[in-house]
Amino acid sequence: MERPRIIRKSAGDLPEPPHLADYAAERAAFSWQRARSELAGLPGGGLNIAYEAVERHARGERAGHIAFRFLGNNGAREVTFAELSGLTNRFANVLKALGIAKGDRLFLLASRIPELYIAVLGSFKNGTVVSPLFSAFGPEPIATRINLGAGTVLVTTASLYERKVAPVRSQLPTLRHVLVVGDDGGSADIPGTLDLGRLLAEASERFEIVPTRPEDLALLHFTSGTTGTPKGAMHVHEAVVTHWATGKYALDLHPRDIYWCTADPGWVTGTSYGVIAPLLHGVTSIVDAADFDAERWYRILQEQRVSVWYTAPTAIRMLMKAGADLARQYAFPDLRFIASVGEPLNPEAVWWGLEAFGLPIHDNWWQTETGGIMIANTPAMDIKPGSMGRPLPGIEAAIVQKGADGRLEMVDEPDRDGELALKRGWPSMLRGYLDNEERYRRCFAGDWYLTGDLARRDADGYYWFVGRADDVIKSAGHLIGPFEVESALMEHPAVAEAGVIGKPDEMVGEVVKAFVSLRQGFNPDDALRRELLGHARRKLGAAVAPKEIEFVGVLPRTRSGKIMRRLLKARELGLPEGDTSTLESGG
Ligand code: AMP
Repeated sequence: MERPRIIRKSAGDLPEPPHLADYAAERAAFSWQRARSELAGLPGGGLNIAYEAVERHARGERAGHIAFRFLGNNGAREVTFAELSGLTNRFANVLKALGIAKGDRLFLLASRIPELYIAVLGSFKNGTVVSPLFSAFGPEPIATRINLGAGTVLVTTASLYERKVAPVRSQLPTLRHVLVVGDDGGSADIPGTLDLGRLLAEASERFEIVPTRPEDLALLHFTSGTTGTPKGAMHVHEAVVTHWATGKYALDLHPRDIYWCTADPGWVTGTSYGVIAPLLHGVTSIVDAADFDAERWYRILQEQRVSVWYTAPTAIRMLMKAGADLARQYAFPDLRFIASVGEPLNPEAVWWGLEAFGLPIHDNWWQTETGGIMIANTPAMDIKPGSMGRPLPGIEAAIVQKGADGRLEMVDEPDRDGELALKRGWPSMLRGYLDNEERYRRCFAGDWYLTGDLARRDADGYYWFVGRADDVIKSAGHLIGPFEVESALMEHPAVAEAGVIGKPDEMVGEVVKAFVSLRQGFNPDDALRRELLGHARRKLGAAVAPKEIEFVGVLPRTRSGKIMRRLLKARELGLPEGDTSTLESGG
C-alpha cells in the first residue's frame, strides 16, 4: 500500500501539551532575549552553564529530584540535583587545587561513566574549558586533538589510559595532569596519573562558581574537515540559551519527563543534549554505560519508563534489523516523543517508529558548529518522512548558491538544491575555530553562516537533506575527515599515496574506504592489505580506520596535486565522473 506523504499531527492529540503548539505564532513571538530571561544568570550579567544546569535546581524545589540514573553492570546509581551540586563542586575543587584555572582546557576520554558528567559540569563551575574525545579513537587522533587544544588536564579510565594515552604520553607536552577512574568505577593506581576517586573523596563539597561571562569559552569540540588537521569549534557559556530553547521546542522537555539520549559523550550531541539540555529543564536522564543491544534498549525504554528519547538513524536501523516483533514484546506506555539526529533518517525509519512504538521518529538537524538543534520536526508539527523539518524559533535558514560573480544568491524558489545557510546570531553559534581565523571566516558570507551541507526547501518550508558539499565521511553518525585517515596510512612505509572516501552502507550510512598506491618493492597482496588495515586501526582506532582498502596504480589528482576523492567515489559507485577538466593526465 502506498503510504501518505504526510503524517498529520496536532497539539490536541498529544498526551502532553507541547511547548511549540503554533509554529508561526511562536516564531513570531520568540526572541533570544526572552529565552535568556527564562534562565537565572550570575550577578552582574555573568552566565555559567553549570549554574543554570545544576545550581538553579539544587537550590530550588527540584533539589531532591533525580538528575541522572546511571545504568551500569552492577545496577543503577541515582544522583539528585542536590548531590550533583556537591559532586561537581568537589570536581571543581580538585581542579582548583591542581592549579587549573579559568580558560585552561580539560580533555575527556571515557564512555558514559558518572565521572564524565561530573567532570563536564565541575569544569564549567571552575571556568575550565571542556573538550570531549571519542573513546573509540586511537592514540593518534587523541594526541592530535590534545596538542591542538593545548590540553592541561585529561580525565580518563584506567584501561583507556593504558591502551591509548600511555603510548603517546611523551608526545603531549602541555598535559600536566591525568585524572584516572578505575575500570570498576573505583580507584586507580597508575604511575604518572592521579586517582580521581580519591581526589573527589578528599575535596570539599562547597565551591563558589567562578564568575564566567556569556562570551567566555566553555567547550571546544573538534570536528573534521576535508583537509588539514581537525578544527576546534569554540563554544561559549552563552550557548546555554540555545540548549534551553531547543530542549523546550525540539525535545519538548517537561518537568515529569524521563529522558534518554543515547549519543556518545565524545561527540557534540552527547554534551549539548546528553548533559546540558535535560539538566536545564530539571528532568531525569537515563545514562546507559553499555553499547548498543536491541533487547537491552527495549528493556531500558520499558523499565525506566522513558518518555522522551533522542537517538540516531544508525541505532534505529539496527533496531529495525532486529525486527518489529522484538519491539512488540515490550510495552512503552510512557514514551511520548522520539527524535533522531546526525545523519539522514530514511522515510522507512520514520514509519517503522509508528509500527514499533506507535510514534513516528522525528528527525532533526544540526552540527558541531551550530552547537544546538537548528531544524526539527517538533511534536505538534506535521511530518513529511524524509524531511529534517522546519527551522526552530529564533533560527533563520536559507538555501543559497554562489552566483556567476562569486556572490551569494538566495534561492527563493522551492525544491531547488543549494547550500544550507543560517543567519548568524543564535547563542550557540561557534565563535571561531581554534587558532584558525581564516577557516572560520570562510564559513560566512555576510550575515550568513554556510553549513557545508546541500539541501532544499519545499513550498511548505520543510528542509530536505541532499548531501555534503565537501568530502567528509559520516559513519554511524560520526564525522570522519579523510585527510586524517590518509595521513595515518601514509605513515606506513609501503604506502606511496592514499585517497579516502565514504562508501554508502545500508546500516551505518557510510563506511571508510581507502584507495592506496604502493611504493616500489611492495606487493599489493592480501597480507599487505591486512597489515595496512591493522596499522590504521592501531593508530586511528576502530571507529575511524578504513574498513576496506583497494590497491591502485596511481590516484587521480588535480593539476595542483590534490587527490580527487570525488572522482574516486564516482568510480566506486559507477557514476558519471562529472567535470574532470582539472584532472592531471594519467590519473
Ligand atoms: P557533526 O558536526 O559531527 O554533528 O555532523 C554534522 C553533520 O551531520 C551535518 O553537517 C550533516 O551533514 C549531518 N547531519 C546531521 N543531522 C542530520 C540529519 N538530520 N539529516 C542528514 N544529515 C544530518
